[in-house]
Amino acid sequence: MSRRIVILGGGESGSGAAILAKKTGIDPFVSDSGILKPLYRELLRRNSVKWEEGKHSDNLLEGADEVIKSPGIPDTAPPVLNARRRGIPVISEIEFAGRYTNAVKVCVTGSNGKTTTSSMIFHIMKKAGLNAGLAGNVGSSFARMVAENDHDYYSIELSSFQLDGMFDFRPDIALLLNITPDHLDRYNNDMQSYVNSKFRIVQNLGKDNAFIWCRDDMISSGEIMKRQLNTNLYSFTLNPEQGQGAYIENNKMIITTQNNQMEMTLEELALKGRHNVYNSMAAGIAGQLLRIRKEVIRESLSDFQGIEHRLEQVLRVHGIDFINDSKATNVNSSWYALESMNRKVVWIAGGIDKGNDYSVLSDLVREKVHAIVCLGKDNSKLLSAFKETVPTVVEASSMQDAVRSAYFLAKNGDSVLLSPACASFDLFDNYEDRGRQFKKYVREL
Ligand code: ADP
Repeated sequence: MSRRIVILGGGESGSGAAILAKKTGIDPFVSDSGILKPLYRELLRRNSVKWEEGKHSDNLLEGADEVIKSPGIPDTAPPVLNARRRGIPVISEIEFAGRYTNAVKVCVTGSNGKTTTSSMIFHIMKKAGLNAGLAGNVGSSFARMVAENDHDYYSIELSSFQLDGMFDFRPDIALLLNITPDHLDRYNNDMQSYVNSKFRIVQNLGKDNAFIWCRDDMISSGEIMKRQLNTNLYSFTLNPEQGQGAYIENNKMIITTQNNQMEMTLEELALKGRHNVYNSMAAGIAGQLLRIRKEVIRESLSDFQGIEHRLEQVLRVHGIDFINDSKATNVNSSWYALESMNRKVVWIAGGIDKGNDYSVLSDLVREKVHAIVCLGKDNSKLLSAFKETVPTVVEASSMQDAVRSAYFLAKNGDSVLLSPACASFDLFDNYEDRGRQFKKYVREL
């Protein structure tokens, strides 16, 4: 009798898992409480996968051997609770797909910088001429790539929600960029549960694998002290601390692994800002562990094209720079955005606050920001955090409004920075929609 797998969620990850299941002779059934996007409906139809939408049927789990949960579905969703009650394993699409490929897998997690760093690693792999795929939040799901076009190497971005459903999957090289509070609503407001989730990335690492982590991150460092890790450790830091990994000395990034060492000046790095020095160091260590030539790594880190919505330079209008950092959905990422600004800033911020503590931004805001445009349905927290520190704080109810107000408030030589520190769902479909609207109204100025 063929195995039956129930897949919760029919988006990129769920439909990818369904296609892979079908290909391997497993009988998949996709169930989505919402309505499928036409693209995925068509994909499932083409691959003769059965599905339901707008509900999870009562008998959904009948005869299921395993459940694959998409990362967007919380642990409290009824079919997840039901599966756990019945003892049916609930896994992520990454765990599932990992069973069907022998590729070398470089996996990136962290609270911020995952997409940037996994894309950098992919860029290094491609430049080195490897047959490589980029999987995770960008582009195709890992499962779909394994099913349709498997590669020899993968750079994979892993969110904590994917890690939660991972048990036997073993990365060859694992990266943990940083840990700062995010998504705590899905971890019972318990920071340690979120930390444990991130640390699942190390759970199967052995002597042949490597773990790359940030020495300057207090939470990661504290956690590593507590754990006995039986793998090769490489750390990165902005301090001049020699050892295995990467550090900065005299404005130079130095990467040391086994007997290899490479150097590069910070000016040569394509992406600016302190956070991107971290991301570049982490990606460089991974590249070196993959035995990619130093020249290739250096060239890749110096010609990497930034990604849309991450400190993206949009346009200069009458001497005012407009920067789209719509992907900054938490306080930490906005901290790095503000930190990297070397002009006076008109800051567009706000949206849905996931329990933000704005006090960590106050020094930077006092130093760099002369006006704030609050763009959210409820701006009360932002207003009370900054009305004493910043001379001008105004509210806007649409992106068009926000861009016009910011333009009006900015002077020649300023930057207008959209870096919301909040989720976007109160006024926009998602952060991409927010960023695109920003660019559209900037271009119309
Ligand atoms: P993720 O995939 O983890 O959400 P992204 O690469 O998409 O990360 O970047 C998200 C936001 O965080 C952007 O605003 C970006 O400028 C900022 N960011 C990128 N790397 C880091 C980092 N290492 N530390 C803090 N913020 C970062």
